[in-house]
Amino acid sequence: MKATLRNLKEINGKRIFIRVDHNVPQDKEGNITDETRIVESLDTIKYCIDKGARVILCSHLGRPKTKADTQYTMAPIVERLKQHLAGVSITLSNDCIGEEVTTQVNALKSGEILYLENIRFYPEETKNDEKFAEELSKLCDYYINDAFGAAHRAHASTEGIAHFVPAVAGFLMEREIKILGEAINAPKRPFTLITGGKKISDKIGVLENVMKFADNILIGGGLAYTFAKAAGGSVGNSIVDNESIDYCKTLLDNAKKNKVNFIVGTDCVAGDNFAPDANTRIFDTNDIRDGWEGLDIGPKTIEEFKKVIKTSGTIIWCGPLGVAEFPAFANGSREIGQAVVDSGAITIAGGGDTAFTMVTLGFAPKFTHISTGGGASLELLEGKVLPGIEILLDAKFTEI
Ligand code: AMP
Repeated sequence: MKATLRNLKEINGKRIFIRVDHNVPQDKEGNITDETRIVESLDTIKYCIDKGARVILCSHLGRPKTKADTQYTMAPIVERLKQHLAGVSITLSNDCIGEEVTTQVNALKSGEILYLENIRFYPEETKNDEKFAEELSKLCDYYINDAFGAAHRAHASTEGIAHFVPAVAGFLMEREIKILGEAINAPKRPFTLITGGKKISDKIGVLENVMKFADNILIGGGLAYTFAKAAGGSVGNSIVDNESIDYCKTLLDNAKKNKVNFIVGTDCVAGDNFAPDANTRIFDTNDIRDGWEGLDIGPKTIEEFKKVIKTSGTIIWCGPLGVAEFPAFANGSREIGQAVVDSGAITIAGGGDTAFTMVTLGFAPKFTHISTGGGASLELLEGKVLPGIEILLDAKFTEI
């Protein structure tokens, strides 16, 4: 177990650097289209403010190369944060390190926030440059990592800085590690993985690891057609990852060896092109006519999946079961979403677009947990150690 901000005995008047993940989706005009990550970070920020800390917030936004990419400014995030923290002084700095920032930090009073500019304006961030990380560390007395969504990256503000100051987890990070960790390491059984999405190559690491302990694995979305092709089926124009065909055969063999109930959706709703208004028709997954592509799971698959879901104790879902962005192909994700939230199991959505799909379809509040980390939650499911978590102090040795 990692130390958390509760392990910090006295933070009144202390300079606390909180790495948050406010890398939220924005539309072309820069308007925030999903503020979940901002809302989820509030517990940690409020706790520090209430205890009189002087707070430095830091995040990345998008993929800027240099400071010249001004469209990636944190300004809209700061404006949104102000709406959630009425009465709290929040200033956006022009920079992340240097004299001006240091002066601003020194001037911070208890309960005030200085928000650093986009940390990725510095290429040193993603290079995990030691000197840059040390400069960041000089801004603070303690470091809190609450950026679960960036914890799989060893960057200067997610890993490097923690070599120089006492480093602990924030509340969001703690929740993510606890819920996902327990679901993977000590699941209430039967354990079911539901996976879909676009490309099987992105999910191979997950399938390989989860195969070691899962009771059920349900495959839908674009993944199903590579399996169908591996089994000798015709999949029409459906998405297929040709390089993974042999691998699918190995996975199916491993499932048998490990006695995992491995179900690839047996039917699908296909479209005559990849469009919201495509004509639709139902086919068996392994017998799709040319000119048609599978874009959602079909009615038989929905029933097969529901049977398994009903008896599950833990369900982790990563990857939508169809092209849920198009209402005509969202039915599978909706039906299965309903079954999952009705199951009484511990339910977790994470990775790929699943969290967003569950928010859009309105199921998110009924899940036990919606992970804020796409890539990070997938890497946990792959059994990997995340550098942004690994570097934090261990709770049992910690007297801070
Ligand atoms: P991922 O990031 O791998 O979870 O993929 C999410 C994307 O997979 C979403 O944008 C879905 O539209 C897409 N997707 C799901 N099912 C299919 C399918 N049958 N064919 C093509 N794309 C799909």
